[in-house]
Amino acid sequence: MRTGDARPASLPIAGDQELPPRISELVVISGKGGTGKTSVVASFGVLADNVVIADCDVDAADLHLVLSPVIGETHSFLSGYEAVIRQDDCCGTGVCREVCRFDAVGKHDHTGRFVIDPLACEGCGVCVELCPNRAIDFVERTCGAWYVSSTPSGPMVHARLGIAAENSGKLVATVRREATRVAVANRCTTVLVDGPPGIGCPVIASITGASGVLIVTEPTVSGAHDMERVLALARHFDVPAAVCVNRWDLNPDGADRIESRATDLGAAITGRIRYDPTVTRAQVEGRTVVELGGEAADDVRVVWDQVRRWLKC
Ligand code: SF4
Ligand code: SF4
Repeated sequence: MRTGDARPASLPIAGDQELPPRISELVVISGKGGTGKTSVVASFGVLADNVVIADCDVDAADLHLVLSPVIGETHSFLSGYEAVIRQDDCCGTGVCREVCRFDAVGKHDHTGRFVIDPLACEGCGVCVELCPNRAIDFVERTCGAWYVSSTPSGPMVHARLGIAAENSGKLVATVRREATRVAVANRCTTVLVDGPPGIGCPVIASITGASGVLIVTEPTVSGAHDMERVLALARHFDVPAAVCVNRWDLNPDGADRIESRATDLGAAITGRIRYDPTVTRAQVEGRTVVELGGEAADDVRVVWDQVRRWLKC
């Protein structure tokens, strides 16, 4: 104890609760699919200590193929509403079919009763209001599920969006929120997010408020263009950005140009990853490249080290 410190060592501090550790949230994104983003995230997951992994690429989730999560919790993802006719109360007026502007109401082939196609129903609620028998329920729509799982690298939160289901931005926000909750509960210091590709709503939902984004790109003209678009997005939402060029040795001049442009736009450069057939082998075997080793694995370790220093995590 310091000299002059009047507080006895056993006295409880702030209601006997320890302050939670600071949580850094790194979101790995790319301007488009196929840049190797998920392979990088999976390897980061192996290298990181005290980490919660979140797969926010909910439209095409594939991180689970490498990290083999064991599902511990399953939750329905509810978003919006859909109309469902209670057949026992329906007297067949057909008003619902007349008022539906989305052609969601049809007649059952065999019974001739009115039924609502859940894929066509837009959840506007007009038929619910106008049904003379009040025979239509307006129920929350199940659009998918999200999971809390365990992996050898740590807890993982991931999700599955239902077929033809929309609102993946809301599901992304749910996965991020739950990953942070799991991090707090387990006193983890890093949340590692596999973000969606592109620059649409799911990407915005995945980066807003994050500690930083790492943009994984490739040394092509389209790679440079996509990187600029996501960099602009990160800048718009005031999220610090870093860039990593994957398979850089396939076009060293292109890699130079991308890094130069990224630096001009205010991004940090966190290293390059070489082309290495081991990456493909790792995908085929459902493992991470750092587990298999090789040149790309060496590069990923360097990039992770740089990212940690950049994020101070
Ligand atoms: S409006 Fe109501 S009562 Fe009429 S067919 Fe539709 S569900 Fe049945
Ligand atoms: S809720 Fe709207 S979209 Fe759905 S069936 Fe009724 S009128 Fe059609």
